[in-house]
Amino acid sequence: TTKLDGKVALVTGGSRGIGAGIALRLARGGADVAVTYRDSADRAALVVKQVETLGRRALAIRADCADPAAVRDAVDRVATELGRLDILVNNAAVFLVGPVEQLSADEVERTLAVNIRAPFVAAQAAARHLGGGGRIITIGSNVGERAVFPGLSLYSMSKTALVGLTRGLARELGPRGITVNLVNPGPTDTDANPADGPNAAAIAGITALGRFATPAEIAGTVAHLAGAEAAYLTGAVVNVDGGFTS
Ligand code: NDP
Repeated sequence: TTKLDGKVALVTGGSRGIGAGIALRLARGGADVAVTYRDSADRAALVVKQVETLGRRALAIRADCADPAAVRDAVDRVATELGRLDILVNNAAVFLVGPVEQLSADEVERTLAVNIRAPFVAAQAAARHLGGGGRIITIGSNVGERAVFPGLSLYSMSKTALVGLTRGLARELGPRGITVNLVNPGPTDTDANPADGPNAAAIAGITALGRFATPAEIAGTVAHLAGAEAAYLTGAVVNVDGGFTS
């Protein structure tokens, strides 16, 4: 039902975790998929191989989201090398947490650069390539909605900023038939937040479903938003969080 045949997607931070799950799901829907990564070249190469196994074209680009020029170049490279760009998924983020007095200036800079500036710059670059039916989907966080533990001030701030980005872009790009949405995952089993980690049981306990999501469960909603069936859904914040914020 989410036919993405002929579409080209870019997923930032698509080498592992939720981003890799999204890349594979979009490819399964019929899209050609590019992913960016910073460190995990081997994992990115594996995602490329998996996408190609599904019969779609794939591209892995090393691009540190902290560097705005690298982000811009990556977006332009996808449009050049895969011929077009239809779907941008802003997924890459850093999760730097701690008591507010102890967060360093460097941690603040990195969080603002990767979690806020990079999605803005990527959207800005993508806007030059997207046509009617284009999609910008950004991955926020459940703790942008509810900062349930101490130590989340910086990270939660960075994720809440994406609400404003999403609403502003939706207004601006709507007349061109481009939709812009924010997906807030709940606790999802990845390297960043393993379902068997030390605080996992407490975190799962805050959800209504009592468990972590799999990356595929986040990717399913992203694929829906990317498809034609979601053409009237824009400027929205979609909580795919197992009831974490209910
Ligand atoms: P992971 O840490 O498991 O994976 C992060 C991905 O982002 C990797 O592919 C990594 O690539 C890439 N990445 C990190 N920093 C950069 C950078 N500077 N430049 C380019 N790529 C980068 O994270 P998750 O999959 O768990 O999280 C994905 C998204 O979901 C994030 O936006 C996160 O905030 C959000 N989220 C996650 C939740 C969870 O419980 N897991 C809950 C709520 C939101 P590489 O290794 O190559 O550097």
